[in-house]
Amino acid sequence: MQLTGELLIAGRAKRGEGALFQALDAATGEPIAQPVFHSALSTDVDKACELADEAFDIYRALHAEKRAQFLDDCAARIEALGDQLIERAMAESGLPRARLEGERARTANQLRMFAEVVRSGDALDARIEPALPERQPPRTDLRFWRIGVGPVAVFGASNFPLAFSVAGGDTASALAAGCPVVVKAHPAHPGTSELVGRAIQDAVAAAGLPAGVFSLLFDAGHEVGSALAQHPAIRAVGFTGSRAGGLALIKLAAARAEPIPVYAEMSSVNPNVLLPGALAARGETLAREFATSAMLGCGQFCTNPGLMLGLAGTEFDAFAADAAREFSGASAGVMLTPGIQRNYERGIERLTRHPRVTTLARGNAAPGRARAALLRVSAKDLLADPTLGEEVFGPSSVLVECADALELRAVLRKIEGQLTITLHAAPADGELVRSLLPLIERKAGRVLANGFPTGVEVCDAMVHGGPFPATSDGRSTSVGTAAIERFLRPVCYQNLADNLLPDALRDANPLDLRRRYAGKPETQRTP
Ligand code: NAP
Repeated sequence: MQLTGELLIAGRAKRGEGALFQALDAATGEPIAQPVFHSALSTDVDKACELADEAFDIYRALHAEKRAQFLDDCAARIEALGDQLIERAMAESGLPRARLEGERARTANQLRMFAEVVRSGDALDARIEPALPERQPPRTDLRFWRIGVGPVAVFGASNFPLAFSVAGGDTASALAAGCPVVVKAHPAHPGTSELVGRAIQDAVAAAGLPAGVFSLLFDAGHEVGSALAQHPAIRAVGFTGSRAGGLALIKLAAARAEPIPVYAEMSSVNPNVLLPGALAARGETLAREFATSAMLGCGQFCTNPGLMLGLAGTEFDAFAADAAREFSGASAGVMLTPGIQRNYERGIERLTRHPRVTTLARGNAAPGRARAALLRVSAKDLLADPTLGEEVFGPSSVLVECADALELRAVLRKIEGQLTITLHAAPADGELVRSLLPLIERKAGRVLANGFPTGVEVCDAMVHGGPFPATSDGRSTSVGTAAIERFLRPVCYQNLADNLLPDALRDANPLDLRRRYAGKPETQRTP
């Protein structure tokens, strides 16, 4: 496929008239010659959003099987992009082939998973409370289901150029919910974005859907993203990236005449708690596994283990020494963008210069590459200056030495909301684990035992969320089938005649949905 750098607005390709920019080769920092990308203007934002709004009622009324087939077709078309997609993503992101092939499979599987969610109809959550004319006061017939919120703006993430970008989890869940999507491409991988965008555009056309169901806009700066978050037709935002970027969009969305939700996944240091029994039984293995997890993808995972908490003692010291050995042998890695590399270097410099921080190890250095870093602080100093525990996105981690279990609890009480918290425990740690769990549950979206948080399974039971600042809304997840809930809202029909109700709520249950009837599964309904 020939890349053109054009905007994809509702079925059309259009040369943007805003600032020009080129993709950068992540490994060399040099511009990739072809194509030149053209930023959108506010008139393009208006057009994409207005056409998304026009498409909404037709798209959401589509038969579930047709919407599911459309999602399946998006998956097939992304796979059919073949090596061109992988090679472009490798150049733009610096991520290796195997990682990107895995990410493509995850992207396609995610779309297919949401196709099954649509087919099952379970997300509609249909409920019927029949009329109770004999009751005093009498009750009329009440029926509940959920519909799409309306057009959704999606911001592609730099660190997942496929699975969290143009056709990633936010887009797949919004489309499954019946919401048209306008994507703001991440400028770190515009060519990858165009390839995937064109595949979705073709799927929209092949399914005969209104073209406004999908648009892709480019921008060299923040204007397009800001305008999208403020556009009256946009009803929700999905975002993955920095805390500053997420907060800026949240502010804009909240200041609208009609505020809308922003589901932003922002920052998390994913504390791991190393309990004494686990350290005694397998400290060396834990140190090795920890270093592998922290270095994976050059540390550019939102679930990177950034804070390792343990109780002071010889076993914690031995763990620190083993981990330092692993970190000092680590090769320097390519980061996603020069900006992300600069942020990493600044973050590490701030920590290494801090008088209360000990640098345990630095990895190998190479020009234009990120150097791994392992640091150590005492819990007392972290409690006095919580900025020492803030996310430094990249291959680094901070070991935190707690004087005793009380201090460990104090740190867990003080840390911000997290995507994940992990407990490394042996049977002998059982009592301490039990006492920590209620505290940990309040702080994290996912609680792990004896594993590492990198690697997020896409399935029914996954939560990739957590209290602020892990996400802007701790009631949500951006991975797994429950991600669709962000883009649905409940509607109740009171006393509507059967022939006016949506099929999902009609007496005869023509869609054969699993529904609740009079407070119980409908299958238990007495005739
Ligand atoms: P980012 O700077 O937050 O950018 C993400 C997207 O939001 C980009 O399309 C960006 O456009 C846009 N954006 C950012 N600020 C905006 C604003 N004020 N108004 C409108 N749009 C805005 O994230 P990034 O480029 O991926 O990485 C930068 C840093 O984010 C990293 O160093 C890391 O700290 C963090 N990060 C965290 C995660 C995570 O999973 N938690 C993932 C990736 C990155 P522009 O690019 O044009 O600014």
